[in-house]
Amino acid sequence: MDTAFFKFSEELQKVNDEVLCEIAPHLAKIEKTKEHNQLKILHSFIQNRVALTHFAGSTGYGYGDAGRDKLAAVFARVFGCEDALVRTSFASGTHALCVALFALLRPGDTMLCATGRPYDTLLGVIGLGGKTGGSLADFGIEYREIQMLSSGLDIDEISRQAQNAKILYLQRSRGYSSRGTLRHEDIKAAADAAKTANPNITIVVDNCYGEFVHKTEPTQHGAELIIGSLIKNPGGGIAPTGGYIAGKKNLVELCAQRLTAPGVGSEVGSVSGDVLRELYLGLYFAPAVTAEALKTATYARCLLTHLGLNATPTWRDDTGDIITAITMDSPEKLVAFCKGIQNLSPVDSHLTPEPAPMPGYGCDVIMASGSFTQGSSIELSCDAPMRAPYTAYMQGGLNFAAARTAVLHAAERMLQTD
Ligand SMILES: *Cc1c(COP(=O)(O)O)cnc(C)c1O
Repeated sequence: MDTAFFKFSEELQKVNDEVLCEIAPHLAKIEKTKEHNQLKILHSFIQNRVALTHFAGSTGYGYGDAGRDKLAAVFARVFGCEDALVRTSFASGTHALCVALFALLRPGDTMLCATGRPYDTLLGVIGLGGKTGGSLADFGIEYREIQMLSSGLDIDEISRQAQNAKILYLQRSRGYSSRGTLRHEDIKAAADAAKTANPNITIVVDNCYGEFVHKTEPTQHGAELIIGSLIKNPGGGIAPTGGYIAGKKNLVELCAQRLTAPGVGSEVGSVSGDVLRELYLGLYFAPAVTAEALKTATYARCLLTHLGLNATPTWRDDTGDIITAITMDSPEKLVAFCKGIQNLSPVDSHLTPEPAPMPGYGCDVIMASGSFTQGSSIELSCDAPMRAPYTAYMQGGLNFAAARTAVLHAAERMLQTD
């Protein structure tokens, strides 16, 4: 390893070198996927004749913003689907998911989620999060949930409950839960079962963290609408904000009517030129950045296991999830690890994270994040609720060399607390 700027104990350097050897075949697989996706994006840019003039941007209503519409066409081709809505007016992934759900569901309809409890921020949208005005529940939309089995999706139960549902909702990433990540064949089996039981049902997939992890996307495996955040994988660490919705043309158009106004839809919404260029550039870099985050996760899982910690999923699991749960045995180790990540971040390295109360948690939470974009989880970050079994959730990494050095430093800091 290169120790010109950052030094480690000899033992730790040795473990580092062994880990890099051990995971080399796995990293090569990640590189192959990256190459495939990079060429897919290049092909889409060429087929769509992307030009410098598309980065000009617009003001006001944004009528006829060719760069905005072209970007949507580039995304649609990359995702192998008919249409897309790619906008910085989506405040977050949650907002994009919320727009899609309100666009598709009407009072009396049922949303059927087959991946157990959805990601935390969706609970308020659905009406499971206590008193939030304007949730789906407030509008008389029913929500039903099917728990996942240890073997994966409960296909029999999906067939049974799909008959009375308007949408089948699947969350691809495990998020912060301990279940497995959905594979494309799982999505296909669920979509087929639901469509057989009810041809009118719509298959919706929360694709957050899933983009460019494999060579194809859920829209090529039965999903009719996918939704994600631009400050995760598809923004390549460059998009400053935003989200996307992609899939069947009629469904995307319904979402556009909801995002702006019925009757106006995707025709309006200006994007400044600076930002538009960043969205194109971010997408262009997205496969490489996603690969760096996956390589960082693989390295961290293997290294921390060697150091005697429990890191899940294991590095050999081909999950495609960029989140790693690391269980330390003491609060001191947890804090030391998070401080180590912070101190080797490119931004705010001089800050020291401390546990503090957070709304929604029954205990203090410590967060390490030295990112270029606020809250970006494609950049290396780590957070942990301060309670037994002292599990830290680490994700992202724009750059493998920098991110794995930060992980090694954090590990060293943690070991020194003994
Ligand atoms: C990140 C994420 C979301 C959306 O979160 P935002 O922070 O609002 O962008 C939704 N679902 C999953 C699985 C996610 O990882």
